[in-house]
Amino acid sequence: MLQQVMTAPGAIEFREVEIPEIGENQVLIKIMKIGICGSDIHVYHGEHPFTTYPVTQGHEVSGEIVKTGSAVRGLTPGLKVTVQPQVVCGKCYPCRHGKYNLCEELKVMGFQTTGMASHYFAVDASKVTPLPEIMTFDEGAMIEPLAVAVHAVKQAGDVRGRNIVVLGAGPIGNLVAQTARGMGAAGVMITDISDLRLKKAAECGVEHCINTKHEDLGQAIFDAFGPDKADIIYDCAGNNTTMGQAITYARKGSVIILVAVFAGMATIDLAVANDHELDIKSTMMYRSEDYDDAIRLTAQNKVRLAPLVSAHFAFKDYLDAYKYIDANRETTMKVIINVQE
Ligand SMILES: [Zn+2]
Ligand SMILES: [Zn+2]
Repeated sequence: MLQQVMTAPGAIEFREVEIPEIGENQVLIKIMKIGICGSDIHVYHGEHPFTTYPVTQGHEVSGEIVKTGSAVRGLTPGLKVTVQPQVVCGKCYPCRHGKYNLCEELKVMGFQTTGMASHYFAVDASKVTPLPEIMTFDEGAMIEPLAVAVHAVKQAGDVRGRNIVVLGAGPIGNLVAQTARGMGAAGVMITDISDLRLKKAAECGVEHCINTKHEDLGQAIFDAFGPDKADIIYDCAGNNTTMGQAITYARKGSVIILVAVFAGMATIDLAVANDHELDIKSTMMYRSEDYDDAIRLTAQNKVRLAPLVSAHFAFKDYLDAYKYIDANRETTMKVIINVQE
């Protein structure tokens, strides 16, 4: 079988390797689709602080089980599945308290350990989540980023009946807005400086799409939600401008969730955060219950994943996928690799 290997930033090789043997608690998955995300692009550019080369990428996947180990229960060949790419120690404080997404020794497949960009992948059954038969392999490959959004939305507790602002309409911002709506938020606003991304959000059913280059955010929030403003603001862009907007426009005593990986050191006005008793929280990856919610929201059509797919590339054209993303930064949402011929 073929395995993708990024040997150095910007250089991809395909190696002919044996189909892996599975242990008694493992399953063998025929990988069908792989999504590319912002973190992969950082690896491609040599700008990911916690990845060394060579590395096999691939952490957003869908596939089909072809073989199961003798001790595996509840998973059978032919099942459509996705995989949680976290490798955790199981021993540290967060792991012992159910928060394994915060494991002190956290490794993620495709970054600090071998990713799934190969024709077949052997993985512990505990990391495998079945997908409904009606779900496409494209959708299945987007459950991982959707789980990021689900976990982020839940950091603010129950969002039913709340008014929400999402700053940044890239793939994660789009999914956070859709998830909040799908989980019962009363009103959802999304902002960006790209009309194309806002158009995509509108296509996915987000009602208030605001270009902050042309519109005043404070006024837009007032127009949409009235003098009580928003209950929760999610920063899915993660820069001084957006976090500054969040602190400036948040209602006193309301919640701000930092979702995006923050770019560089922050120069935000924490005195205002103090004075307004703002509850600033952050979010990191997901746990299996977030995968379950992500699958449910997609199966119930409360989140639309198909409009996010910008392009497909063949497995052998992995490098072209990155070149395409670089050349179409503003318009690209999700690029998917077709792993099988
Ligand atoms: Zn990702
Ligand atoms: Zn741990």
